Amino acid sequence: MRVCVIGTGYVGLVTGACLAHVGHDVICVDNNEEKVKIMKSGQSPIFEPGLSEIMQNAIKNGKIQFTTDLAAGVTHGEILFIAVGTPPLSSGESDTRYVEAVARGIGSHLNGGYKVIVNKSTVPIGSGDWVRMIVLDGIAERQKTLVSAGSGVSTPEQLSEITAEFDVVSNPEFLREGSAVYDTFNPDRIVLGSNNSRAVEMMKQLYAPIVERQFAEDKSLEPVPVLVTDLSSAEMIKYAANAFLATKISFINEVANICDRVGADVTQVAKGIGLDSRIGNKFLNAGIGWGGSCFPKDVSALVHTADDYGYEAQLLKAAVSVNERQRLIALEKLQHALKILKGKTVGLLGLTFKPDTDDMRDAPALNLIEQLNRLGAKVKAYDPIISQTGMRHGLSGVVVETDAERLADGCDALVLVTEWQQFSNLDYAKMAKLMNNPVIIDGRNFLDPETMVRAGFQYEGIGR
Ligand code: NAD
Repeated sequence: MRVCVIGTGYVGLVTGACLAHVGHDVICVDNNEEKVKIMKSGQSPIFEPGLSEIMQNAIKNGKIQFTTDLAAGVTHGEILFIAVGTPPLSSGESDTRYVEAVARGIGSHLNGGYKVIVNKSTVPIGSGDWVRMIVLDGIAERQKTLVSAGSGVSTPEQLSEITAEFDVVSNPEFLREGSAVYDTFNPDRIVLGSNNSRAVEMMKQLYAPIVERQFAEDKSLEPVPVLVTDLSSAEMIKYAANAFLATKISFINEVANICDRVGADVTQVAKGIGLDSRIGNKFLNAGIGWGGSCFPKDVSALVHTADDYGYEAQLLKAAVSVNERQRLIALEKLQHALKILKGKTVGLLGLTFKPDTDDMRDAPALNLIEQLNRLGAKVKAYDPIISQTGMRHGLSGVVVETDAERLADGCDALVLVTEWQQFSNLDYAKMAKLMNNPVIIDGRNFLDPETMVRAGFQYEGIGR
């Protein structure tokens, strides 16, 4: 099928590349010229395991193109994905201006046969109908422009030809950064929100190779469940899923804080409750709190939507406030271990909000750097990806080192912020010797306490 993906960030580029990989003809549109240039050269502008390889294959097979030209993308696609960012405003609600600009742009270029416009961006509940309205506005503007330009088009019949048949579908995205390509080929489910069977059928045809597990790791599995709902329910599923996962982490962090006080080990508690099939063992890792580009903004947006309807989402607000406190827990532990932080040097192992990504949006490390600077500590960091990509992330108040031993050199304490796999194999004994004071706060309960003590560290986990 012919597909256009508008917005080539973590979601759009992965979606476009994976759909091209399964055999569709894809045009990816982005208004960032620099990004488009990088993608045209076969490089991925983001770090995502496996992405460059499938992009390069799709380019070689002529299945994917990159452009800044929205008109070309809209003309090409039978299915048009909107995958631009919806960052949070200071009020907590989502900033939908990029979605609006794209919807208007689609409207002003739509012409010809039936098209499905797909909201892949996480958008407030009700956005499906809103996008439809904006697209129709875009079409009306074009009609007006043609009439006033004296193009000879003026009768209602002529005007109705400059229109297009389309439907809007909500198709929320559940991929995880760091395993986005894997998640796209091995999804737990595909959600399609629409009241129109023609649009749903086209979406099912688009996803058929993935649903039938043709590109899955385990091809013998049952087909991927496809859940068809109304538009609002599909939009709500995305928010509810993220709000649930964030709440689950806040829950275990609350339990960890109580464990710390009573002398229990939260890692054993999590194992004990996770073996209960009603609870499950995922998202039960206590640590320094959730961050990233999705959980904080999606939970805040859901709280804001509830507020709009006069409903106070108390549980979600509590999940947010537990998380805000949790993001300072490493600081408390550092103060406990070092007493005064002014004049001390603290080294951060990891900067990104999770491993296997270069995404720094709302990463807990940013809070930590800001607070440590405020208290007069010098901050250094080593991150396997950020240390390579340099300061392009606009980091300030932190010296980014090129390896873990340089990081440890002269530090009064280390904080493990991100559980990068390679942090399990560092030469901690050597690092302890290089430090002024071998203290380590394991913000992800990632390291083995006994091994760290044997390496010469004073070890502190979260709730263990
Ligand atoms: P992103 O910021 O990485 O990418 C957005 C892209 O859109 C950028 O490349 C930007 O240049 C482009 N863009 C902005 N305005 C444009 C326009 N008018 N025309 C063309 N391109 C334009 O965002 P993301 O992380 O990929 O997220 C996209 C959406 O998907 C968001 O709504 C997000 O909530 C949702 N989502 C993200 C994830 C994730 O893990 N990142 C997961 C699920 C859902």
